[in-house]
Amino acid sequence: MSAAIEVRDLRFAYPDGTAALRGVSFLITAGECVGLIGPNGSGKSTLLLHLNGLLPERWSGGVSVLVDGVAVGPATLAEVRRKVGLLFQDANDQLFCPTVWEDVAFGPQQLGLAECEVRARVEGALATAGLAGFGRRAPHHLSAGEKRRVCLAGVLACEPSVLVLDEPSSTLDPKGRRELRLLLRQIPITKLIATHDLELVVELCGRVIVLDGGAIVAQGPTAEVLADEALMLRHGLERPHALQHLHPHGPEPDLARDGAPRRAASLTPGSGGSG
Ligand code: ADP
Repeated sequence: MSAAIEVRDLRFAYPDGTAALRGVSFLITAGECVGLIGPNGSGKSTLLLHLNGLLPERWSGGVSVLVDGVAVGPATLAEVRRKVGLLFQDANDQLFCPTVWEDVAFGPQQLGLAECEVRARVEGALATAGLAGFGRRAPHHLSAGEKRRVCLAGVLACEPSVLVLDEPSSTLDPKGRRELRLLLRQIPITKLIATHDLELVVELCGRVIVLDGGAIVAQGPTAEVLADEALMLRHGLERPHALQHLHPHGPEPDLARDGAPRRAASLTPGSGGSG
């Protein structure tokens, strides 16, 4: 399996001197769905912004981030941004057109695609996001869940090879969160999801990376990392409700997955990936 994302000793400080990333290294294999968790201020958003070159490196020389083997740098920004679809934390940062259609079409148009290809991509992305028929609606009149799905459709219309999601469920109600989980589950591409929503991590991510103080403090199979109560508490997290009765190597839990019982075996690395 090839690495969809490789991060090597990534260090970054903001102009005011705040050290946000202190030597972060990890690999994500093509097709994996990986959760990025950690307390507020641990560096999750800063890390995600590096994955499509939105923050220049200040500390390290050389290569720190590779996407599909392409080193992120000034010369490769356009290529990297075609590969990495980034869903921002606040949907309102991503939606700026008068209609849903125009918002979703914006990315493909920037890629210079022919009008018929743009139309096909917008229709396909709206259908995938469960938004067929929403094209003429005004994004700012939509619910938080619908806005989030418009953003996702806009990202998918660019056909990225990696989806990077920053707190995708943060503003959603339980129904919106459930719909988002179902939707993400159906998108068969590599995903890195930064979130405080540990139920989402349990359901979707085969592997999890824990960030604190700008450094990786743990990573491994979701069920094992999240079941380590001492580790979770030490880093400002808590064991998710869905794991309360789960031992990583123990008996089958009765986890609800979109209303259906879930097998412990499905909480193994890579299982939460693409499907
Ligand atoms: P998280 O996404 O885990 O909440 P962030 O990446 O937003 O963490 O923040 C990591 C650290 O960088 C924090 O100490 C935060 O205060 C700091 N930080 C974030 N954005 C800026 C900025 N624009 N200028 C200065 N410091 C920042």
